[in-house]
Formats: sequence, structure tokens, C-alpha cells
Amino acid sequence: MSNTLSRRQALRGATASVLVAGWSISTQSWAVAGTTDPDLVELPSLDGTLETEAVSGFGHDFGRMVDSDPWAVLRPGSVDDIVKMIDYARSNGLHIAMNGRSGTGDDLESHSSFGQALVPGGISIDARGLSRIISIDSDSAVVEPGVTWATLTEAALEVGATPPALTDYLHLSIGGTLSIGGVGSTVHRYGFQVDTVTSVDVVTGEGELVTASPTQSSDLFEAVLSGGGQCGVIVRATVDLVPAPDEVLVCSLVYDDLDVYMADQEKALEEGRFDAQAGEAGPSPDGSGWVYKLEGIAFHPAGSPPDQDELLSGFNDDRSSAEIVGMPYRDYAFRLDAFESELKEGGFWTQPKPWLSMFMPASSTKQFLEEALADLTQDDLGAGFLLCYPYHTGKSTRPLVMQPGEPVGYLFDLLRFPAPDGPDSGRMLEQNRRLHDRGVELGGKRYLVGAVPEMTVEDWQEHFGNRWTTFREQKERHDPDGILTPGQAFFG
Ligand SMILES: Cc1cc2nc3c(=O)[nH]c(=O)nc-3n(C[C@H](O)[C@H](O)[C@H](O)COP(=O)(O)OP(=O)(O)OC[C@H]3O[C@@H](n4cnc5c(N)ncnc54)[C@H](O)[C@@H]3O)c2cc1C
Repeated sequence: MSNTLSRRQALRGATASVLVAGWSISTQSWAVAGTTDPDLVELPSLDGTLETEAVSGFGHDFGRMVDSDPWAVLRPGSVDDIVKMIDYARSNGLHIAMNGRSGTGDDLESHSSFGQALVPGGISIDARGLSRIISIDSDSAVVEPGVTWATLTEAALEVGATPPALTDYLHLSIGGTLSIGGVGSTVHRYGFQVDTVTSVDVVTGEGELVTASPTQSSDLFEAVLSGGGQCGVIVRATVDLVPAPDEVLVCSLVYDDLDVYMADQEKALEEGRFDAQAGEAGPSPDGSGWVYKLEGIAFHPAGSPPDQDELLSGFNDDRSSAEIVGMPYRDYAFRLDAFESELKEGGFWTQPKPWLSMFMPASSTKQFLEEALADLTQDDLGAGFLLCYPYHTGKSTRPLVMQPGEPVGYLFDLLRFPAPDGPDSGRMLEQNRRLHDRGVELGGKRYLVGAVPEMTVEDWQEHFGNRWTTFREQKERHDPDGILTPGQAFFG
């Protein structure tokens, strides 16, 4: 029997009972236990496991457009395992990256769209190995990175609290969204999820465990929050919590005119009318154009909703089409769960999904949106939607969450769920690239999630602008051998 695992064996999971002994420098492959290979670098002893079977689930992500398996998966049993395996990867020239393994039921995967968490031929770390809530009270929680926002929200509600900045879909890993930003309908009040984190423990690309905060190793703190996993793996985070409301009133106001829609959105924002504020564009029911929906959400104590006339006064929507629904706060927080089930049942969830997320300056949002809507068809959205709503860019305080240079920005979030027989994903990717380039031309910034093909180092340099030099210096300092998170490809 050969004492090394061929790539094929590793990929097809044919070696379920084979224990990995270490990496063979001469054969550039994993060697099995009992090997006599003199070039074998033995694995450190681990609290968890390193597996070469069933790694294919780590070779794709939610976007389903990139397929590239790692050679091994680390299921860490401790933070120490991550320290040891980063050290090991570095010594042996292997790439390594955390995979959020987020989702529901058995459908766990990276929820990135375009390979951001993938490690072709390297080591993927299963975030689920570190998914404990270490402590929680009504002000804050200390969590491991594989905890999802859903799990944290459930635990927080038990102490009467909630994370202030929730993503729309909660089954995402905390380590994953902190590595990219994390945006949701309270961004106008609390900023991004990274703005609600006070401290992180990070294992750097040099295998050092560092606690980073605004006052301690602040350079590293700023380089890992929305840093795409370039300078370290977040292994613990302290997240703010705020008192949870009992109930919410969700007001959906409908518009057929973009100018009126945007004016009302910006009025609501300036007046701070709602506790949560979102909105979207969607095809009109008769298919002749687009309609817009402002979603204004008021939080309130049980049984005491705000006066509706007062809450909605001065808006110029088509009030006869408005929908106003009250619900418990928990239902609002978990509002996408039912939709997820529908999408899965309809076969939409596993299709290629080229998402595109941009942050546009308010002054050019109308032009950008009009051009984008002229380019998009109902088929391009499928069962998905196009979020488009304003927020104060000044609420974003972490340097790597790149923002347009105006006080008001708009999230443009093209969340496609094409039908199983829907448009060609290559065409949609080209469309993303076109829209991205046009958005940048108009002063926009992309969000790190999403699928924009053929991003070059020069594109990323332009993206990070005056933060680029510091970011690259941090990368060189904390990951001198460039082993961490190759899927982001910021630095080539
Ligand atoms: C249905 C759906 C709804 C979504 N809704 C929202 C939303 O409302 N708001 C929003 O902002 N985003 C949203 N997203 C995008 C989501 O935030 C990203 O996909 C994000 O990457 C989190 O996914 P994940 O936990 O699977 O992390 P991954 O995709 O696995 O990781 C993201 C990146 O961070 C790296 N990484 C992961 N964990 C760590 C860690 N602990 N330390 C260092 N690097 C790490 C990965 O290697 C990768 O590069 C949504 C995605 C989906 C599919």
C-alpha cells in the first residue's frame, strides 16, 4: 500500500478509515499513519481532527459557481488546534482558511458567493468546531466564531437582549460576517456588525494568539474586522447586546416612482422615523416596470404599538397598497426562515446565484439604479430580490468597510435566486462585472460578499483606496508567508 494519499483519494473520500500522519514535503501530499517517508512532517497532536475524507462539502459555497476542494479539513477541538495548524501550514507552505459552515439543518456551507472561503489544495477549518457561547449577559456576549447570529439571538432573547445589528438572514457564522462587515436593517442606527464588536481574539498567520480591540493591538483589530480573513483567524469575539423590543410594527409602503421612493426613504432616514429601515425594488405585478417598497419597522413594548397615522405621516406612497403588520420581535428577526424553506423546496437554493452587493453614494444612486434596472429582467432575479435603501455612512467606523464618500449611502443588494432553468450564470456574472464597474465609476464601493469576476490586485487597490497601504502592511506583518484565506485574492 502506498503511504501517501493521492489527491484523488483525498477528494473522493475513499479513505474514511485512514488517519493522516502528516504532510510529505517530497510528494506534496498527505501521508498516512505508519509511513516511512523521511520527508514526512508529522502532524501536531490535536484536540480535534484533521480529515481528508468528505472534504468535497468544503469545495463549494452558497454561490455554487466555484468548485475547488481543499486537501484536508480541520475540525478544531480548541483554539490551540488552530494555532498549531496555522503553524504547521506555514512551515509546509500550505494555504489555510476558516469556513463559516453556516446554514440550517444539514445544509452547512460557506455562505459566500464566489469562493471567498475556499482553499484549493489547502486546509479548510470548520468553524463549527468552535461554536460555543462562552458568556452572555444583557450587555454583551463572548462567542466563538462558529456561533451563528441565530444562536446568539436566541440566547440573547432569553436575557431580554438582542444583537443590535442583525443580518437579514441569521444563520450566518459570526466569524464569517465579522470578516466581511455584516449589514442589516438597523445599519442606520448601529452601523455594521463589525461596529458592534469590542474585542476579538485572533490567531495570526504567524500562529500567534492575540487579543485585539480599539485599545490593544488596534492595528490588528482594524485589519481583521471586514479584512476578509487576511491577517488572522478570529477565534473569539465580544459582541454588544442591547435591550430587545417585545414587538415590532412592520410598515411596507409601496411606490411606482423612484424619485418619490428615494425622497421618502431619505426623509425617514433623516428624521430617524423607524428603528429598522429597509427597502427594495421589484418587478411590477403586470411586468411593465419596477415598483419600490419602503419597509419601516417600529420597535415597541408588548401591546403598545405606535400611532400609525403619526408614524407614517408625510410620506407620499400609495397608501391603499400599504401593508402594516405587527409581530413579536423574534418573528421579525427570523423573518427569512420561512422564505429559505420555500426556496429550498422550489429548487432555487442550490442553483448558481451570482449575487452583487454595492454601497452607492446617495447622489448617484438614482442613476445607478435606473441603469441597473434597465439591464435586469425578472429572470435575473428569479425568486430573489433587489434591496436598495439608505443609511448614514458615518455609522460605519471600521476602516476596511469601504464606504462611498458621502454622508448618505445606499445599499444595492442584488440577491438573485434564479430558477432551475434560469439564465446562464456566465451571463449574470458578466452583468455583475459591468454593474460593479459602473457603480465604482459613480463613486460606489463593492461589499466583500458577492460575485464579481476577474477582480485584479489593481481593482482591489482601487477598492481599498487610502487604506490599501496600511492593509497590505498588516498582511505582510501578520501573514508574512501569505498562507491565509487565498479565496479573497486581494493581494494576488
Ligand atoms: C441567504 C443569505 C443571506 C445573507 N444575508 C446577509 C445579510 O443580511 N447581511 C450581510 O451582511 N450578509 C448577508 N449574507 C452574506 C454573508 O454575510 C456572507 O456570506 C458571509 O461571508 C457569512 O457567511 P459565512 O458565515 O458562511 O462565512 P464564510 O463565507 O465561510 O466566510 C466569509 C469569509 O470570511 C472568512 N472567515 C470566515 N470565518 C472567519 C474567521 N473566524 N476568521 C477569519 N476569517 C474568517 C472566510 O474564509 C471567507 O473568506 C447572506 C448570505 C446568504 C447566503
